[in-house]
Amino acid sequence: MTSKPIRNIAVLGSTGSIGQQTLDIIAEYPALFRAYILVANSSADLLIEQALRFKPALVIIAREDLYDKVRTALQGQDIAVASGAQAIVDAVSLDEVDTVVTAMVGYSGLAPTISAIRSGKTIALANKETLVVAGELITQMLRTSHSVIYPVDSEHGAFYQCLVGERHEDIKRFWLTASGGPFRTTPIEQLADKTAADALKHPNWAMGAKITIDSATMMNKGFEMIEARWLFGIEPKDIEIVVHPQSIVHSMVEFVDGSIKAQLGLPDMHLPIRYALGMPHGRLATTEHHMTLSDFANLTFEAPDRAKFPLIDAAYEAANQGGTMPCVMNAANEVAVAAFLKGAIGFNDIYRIIHTTMEHIANVSTPTYDDYVATNDEARTFAATLC
Ligand code: MG
Repeated sequence: MTSKPIRNIAVLGSTGSIGQQTLDIIAEYPALFRAYILVANSSADLLIEQALRFKPALVIIAREDLYDKVRTALQGQDIAVASGAQAIVDAVSLDEVDTVVTAMVGYSGLAPTISAIRSGKTIALANKETLVVAGELITQMLRTSHSVIYPVDSEHGAFYQCLVGERHEDIKRFWLTASGGPFRTTPIEQLADKTAADALKHPNWAMGAKITIDSATMMNKGFEMIEARWLFGIEPKDIEIVVHPQSIVHSMVEFVDGSIKAQLGLPDMHLPIRYALGMPHGRLATTEHHMTLSDFANLTFEAPDRAKFPLIDAAYEAANQGGTMPCVMNAANEVAVAAFLKGAIGFNDIYRIIHTTMEHIANVSTPTYDDYVATNDEARTFAATLC
């Protein structure tokens, strides 16, 4: 292996599940990576702990009311401290930053991702909502930027790996695998009574609360379909969702000659993060996360239950309408999931709120950035009245 320059990484969302696992990888390869910037929304204590351990040049706490706490705790360290949404946008464009890991939750990832593209950074994209909300705009920007996106989402990491060495015109179909979430075998009539605590018991993946609820409703798989569409230039109709409860096959690509390539690995986000951070130089060797035969002795696949999980069809509907409709869907989902996590609404209300909001908010067919911002605000306000 040729020697590689040390790369300065900006970890956006360092205190979340993906962010913490990204720091594990950075710590595993100290000769390759440095945690240069750490950004958190509100988990000040963990951010301080991470800063003292990784000694970044800069830490940013998004919530301005927590700035004094972080600054005081890091006094005497050679670490700059900043706060607020604009500080994040500015920081990712710093010359010293090589790679930006976008692991913030939801819509908040959009502006920093656009800043990273504008400044030509390598992006390890974990914030799928960015592409759901504004995939068309992001894709346009990437055409005229030196920026490259490596997906961190395990399914998209799988598509990426399956496509290495292949021609785009040889692709027939994407098989997007889904675990089916905690309610895969729950009878449909019992879903109404499910609580946040029930939904947070994901069978395979340890993830943050928001994405775990998205997994229980299968909204997450709808988001991933839209994410795949933009990342790989595939029509929604050519993306097939297949439930694979073991989460070992992370997704598959079918080609025009009938051949299918699949990517397999343990259901552990360290694997796709390691791949995304390794690119474009190559795979990062590790002794961890290797499978044994028993891990993949019994793999099963089944069609998703679209009546039980109507958000799958809602996502295809939003994708086919295009424009700002996926942004509307995402905004309504963020509001509904937050309300569900607080116990303010029931499980089936999540679909009701998203469906009603999509019917109510007008679609802007060729949106500008400002249209996305306005639509996001409008959809959130309307969705909140339904909670
Ligand atoms: Mg995923």
